[in-house]
Amino acid sequence: MDFKVFILGSGAAIPTLKRGTTAHLISCFQRNILIDCGEGTQIQFRRFRLKFQKIDIICITHLHGDHVFGLAGLLSSMQLMGRTNALRIIGPKGLNKLIEAQLDLVGHGDFFPLEFHILPENFVGTVFEDKCIKIAAFPLNHRITTFGYRILEKQNKRRLDKEAFDATGVSVSYIGKLIQGEDIIDNDGRLVRSAEVTIPGKPAKSYAFCSDTAYTTSILPHIQDVDLLYHEATFTNEFADRAAQTGHSTAAQAASIALKANAKRLVLGHFSARYDDELQHLEEAKAIFSQVFAATDGAVFNL
Ligand SMILES: [Zn+2]
Ligand SMILES: [Zn+2]
Repeated sequence: MDFKVFILGSGAAIPTLKRGTTAHLISCFQRNILIDCGEGTQIQFRRFRLKFQKIDIICITHLHGDHVFGLAGLLSSMQLMGRTNALRIIGPKGLNKLIEAQLDLVGHGDFFPLEFHILPENFVGTVFEDKCIKIAAFPLNHRITTFGYRILEKQNKRRLDKEAFDATGVSVSYIGKLIQGEDIIDNDGRLVRSAEVTIPGKPAKSYAFCSDTAYTTSILPHIQDVDLLYHEATFTNEFADRAAQTGHSTAAQAASIALKANAKRLVLGHFSARYDDELQHLEEAKAIFSQVFAATDGAVFNL
């Protein structure tokens, strides 16, 4: 199945004509998950011909404006365009107050159900799970409470090795259990081991989102072996002190995290508006981790 990441905004702090503020749309097993919703995110949906009415879940990392100021506007447009189905919104303490206060004060009439799932301080664990995907949250190291998220496919089922199964002579009614990994003994006392008649399914893929954060190895257990890692790289080495003071990372620090986490690919983003391009970020990151890319608004990554 498709597992795609659409970068809607790749800039830090202030929206510019070149870069919107943070928002990623993840399409996975027909679930559409929006991570962060900076100012202007609904315009980016239109610009890149994506449909915001199809969003099932919104995950917010933290309550800095460049990650959340677009949310009330997006919800309002959803309502005006006739949305009726519930929307799950996951994020830190205060998120529900921030949104409900804005919507209440502007007087919106009947609104579709907003199901807030507020995470306690330092929460680690699963925030959503169904039969296809799982979303996990973990704390980042920023100036205010901030969560990273990891979206994981569920492990693909084992597949039947038909030739090996046929050779056993047992009834096809045992196939379901064997695919689930169970060994079986049939009515004639024949033992068939799952591992002998099935082959492993394709490895489950995952995407991790780490922004905003200072360099911290505390996130490594939560992002280990991830297929695609988005890690903020607000600054280059020249401004490493500023990165530390403001709870942000340099491109080299992001690359170091990708290397330690054994990530397959790294996407850098949340670039400070002081940079005209991201060439210096890429050069500094590539010296540490080769599979690195710079986010641009409208970029799509396939997992
Ligand atoms: Zn930010
Ligand atoms: Zn921030």
